[in-house]
Parts: sequence; structure tokens; C-alpha cells
Amino acid sequence: MVLTAHPISQFRKNPRFYLMYDGFWFLICAAVLSAFSFTNFTPLFAGPSWWFAAAFPAVLFGLIWAHLLIHNATHGSLPRAINRVVGELLGLMVIVRFASWDIVHMRHHKYSDDREKDPHPNFPSFWKTVFNTVFHVEKQLFQQYYDVWGDTPENHARERRRAWMSYGTNVVLLASWFWLLGPAFFVLVFLPCNLLAGLFVIHFNWTTHNGESAKSIEDMRPVNLTSPYYRFANKLFAGIYAHKMHHDRPALFNPANALAAAQAAEHSGQQAA
Ligand SMILES: [Zn+2]
Ligand SMILES: [Zn+2]
Repeated sequence: MVLTAHPISQFRKNPRFYLMYDGFWFLICAAVLSAFSFTNFTPLFAGPSWWFAAAFPAVLFGLIWAHLLIHNATHGSLPRAINRVVGELLGLMVIVRFASWDIVHMRHHKYSDDREKDPHPNFPSFWKTVFNTVFHVEKQLFQQYYDVWGDTPENHARERRRAWMSYGTNVVLLASWFWLLGPAFFVLVFLPCNLLAGLFVIHFNWTTHNGESAKSIEDMRPVNLTSPYYRFANKLFAGIYAHKMHHDRPALFNPANALAAAQAAEHSGQQAA
């Protein structure tokens, strides 16, 4: 069933899935833009106005939570009927779309901290990790395709066509947001908040793979962060910094709760002994 299926399982069944998937969103966005043009649609927000400054942190928080819920949707840890729908809608808000999040993230779980195969391996330097992630992820999307469908010249050509479709879809999707929100809100709030939310996700991946303590790339591995700062952040962001627990039990919605329960059980076990 398309509305509840996992994009990665469709990707593994159909060599044209991702091209058709992004082609579908391309057509939807093109239809939205045509409707805007046809109706002479007035964007929701004029401006710039001072209230944009107040909206900024709220939009940023919302977009970070969109990434968190997309992550949970890739693991199927939202109610079964809505994982796909929530993932798709939020995937449009964060621009990258649900399928790429899903395909890249499943690869991360399978090959985490493998220097070649992890789609976003970490380095002790945060900014080197940012740079590498931005340039590595698209290449790993290609590689995932070759792993499933074969590393042949025809498939390289296919993936290049698919990448052009994906870039084109990014353009019409961004244009739709631009028209809907208005140029001022788009440039001053929506776009910078999306870039910061993306940076937040990269920082989360870096820090939970031991980025702050690692001296070399050999030290990169999933860790549970428990300093007061990350305990507070776990309250805000559904326990995401208990990341070793997440790699051990990916289906949990809030891994920090499971970690606290495991630690409490260990503590009472020690007291009983
Ligand atoms: Zn991880
Ligand atoms: Zn995950």
C-alpha cells in the first residue's frame, strides 16, 4: 500500500522508484505554482515586519521537530497508519523530502561509522563533518542505488537523470514556498531556519557519534550523552541524545526514557545485591 509503505522498501523493489517519486512531487509543485499563477495568488505574508523576529525561533523549533518526527517515521515509531503521511508532509517542509531521509538513514543504521559506507561519517572536527556531510550524502544515495541495482554504466546514467529530477524538484518546491510565504518571510525566516535546522541535525549526528570526545576517526561510535546540557536537550527533543540506545533499539520513540529505565533497573539491582 503506497500510503503506508516504507520508501526504502519501494526503492528496493522498483529501479525507477526514486525517479517516479521525485517526479510525482515535481508535478504536484508545478501544479501548485500554476494554480498560484492562474489565481494571481497573494502570498500569506507581506513584510518584512518586526514580528518575523518573534516567529524565527518558533519556526526553527518547528523545523527541528519536523526532522525528529521524520526520523521517527523512518523507523515506523509513529502510529502505523500515519508514518508515511507525516513523513511526506514534513519532508516537504524541510525540503529534502521523506524518501531521501529514509534511504540515507537506513544506510546510516546499517553501516554506522563505516568510513566508506556510512552516508555521513563523522570527524573529530565539527566543521569538517558539516562539509563532508553536505558533499557525501548525494554520493551515498547513488551508491545505495548501485548496491541494490548493480554498478553498471546504464545505472550511472539512470542515477544522473534521477539526480537532475531531484534538483528540479528542489527548485519547484522552493519556488512554491517562496510564493506561498512571500519573498520577505521566505528569505528572512523560512530559508535560514531550514539551514539552521539542517545544521542542528548534522551537529546531533556528530555529537552523538562521540564528536566532542573523539581524538581520531577510530573513536567515532554511537554514545548516550548524559551531561546536564544534553539531559535538558533530551527533554526538548524526545530523547534523541540517548543515541547508542537508539542504535540498539531503533523502534523506540524516546530512547532516553528507555535508558533511564535501564539505569534505574541496574541501580536497584546493585542495591539488592
Ligand atoms: Zn547514528
Ligand atoms: Zn535512526
